[in-house]
Amino acid sequence: RAKKDHKGHYVTFSAHLGAEARARALMLAELRAAFETERLYLVYQPQVDLSTHELIGLEALIRWRTEDGRFVPPDQFIPVAERSGLMAPLGQWVMTSACMMMRDLLDLGLAPRRIAVNVSVVQLQDPAFTDHVAQALTVSGLEGRHLELEITESVAVLPTAYLETTLAGLRAQAIAIAIDDFGTGYSSLSYLERLPLDRIKIDRTFVRQITEAKGPRIAEMVTQLGRKLGLKVLAEGIEDASVWAALVAMGCHDGQGYHIARPMDKEQLLAWLRQRRDGPAAE
Ligand code: C2E
Ligand code: MG
Ligand code: MG
Ligand code: MG
Repeated sequence: RAKKDHKGHYVTFSAHLGAEARARALMLAELRAAFETERLYLVYQPQVDLSTHELIGLEALIRWRTEDGRFVPPDQFIPVAERSGLMAPLGQWVMTSACMMMRDLLDLGLAPRRIAVNVSVVQLQDPAFTDHVAQALTVSGLEGRHLELEITESVAVLPTAYLETTLAGLRAQAIAIAIDDFGTGYSSLSYLERLPLDRIKIDRTFVRQITEAKGPRIAEMVTQLGRKLGLKVLAEGIEDASVWAALVAMGCHDGQGYHIARPMDKEQLLAWLRQRRDGPAAE
């Protein structure tokens, strides 16, 4: 299909695709430079037990602030990294940095039980992935029980036997495995049953609609499914107290979201953890 460009020339659909490819190449070059000059960093979002309010974990989330001060969301640049060779080193950098942060928190006496790291299918498909994880634990002096890996339903593209063996190997080191954004991908239910998992994360689209017209049906269903399979259920994207209450009522164990805390950089997180430890009385 032809359409006019800004000069009034007709450009074809394939020329339009060419422009997209160029934009991606440009972003990749910028991202690579940002990675090399250490302009990427991690933020951390608390995860809590919804019934006891106890801090159970932190999710590490990558941030990219460009030289001219723009923030590029990971939803935009992670797919670009995944289509290039950059995802592997980038993913390993995230893993090691998150483990180092957990080490610091343990040393400061401020650590929750675990740190959760998002893992791309590109990382997981590397047969050396388990070794890479072990390296990150070793250099940071962490034990497997301090780490949780968040994978998405996109791992369903990998051979089931490979996936089962890899995840079982990680869990043998007491590393926890969570399935992220559940319900938005295309995995089958048999997957959930077969894979060695610890946690299921309800995607925030389903959490948000709890108090909207669409109601709590899907969040309820995912919670029941997770509980039936003996998994911990965590809701992401909790933005207000009424959603929190509804989740507790439906039996959802844990949660994270802006209502509890935003993702924070290291300094903000330390302040947040100290304030929580010392309680409101100590200011
Ligand atoms: P995710 O793993 O599902 O992470 C949750 C996203 O929800 C994060 O977005 C977080 O900032 C956001 N969020 C948390 N609470 C709330 C809330 O109450 N309301 C709303 N509206 N949003 C909330 P973020 O940081 O932009 O990350 C987006 C996605 O990018 C992540 O989704 C994950 O898939 C990916 N990502 C982020 N960091 C990494 C990473 O280090 N490695 C990989 N492979 N992917 C990453
Ligand atoms: Mg995640
Ligand atoms: Mg998620
Ligand atoms: Mg999500």
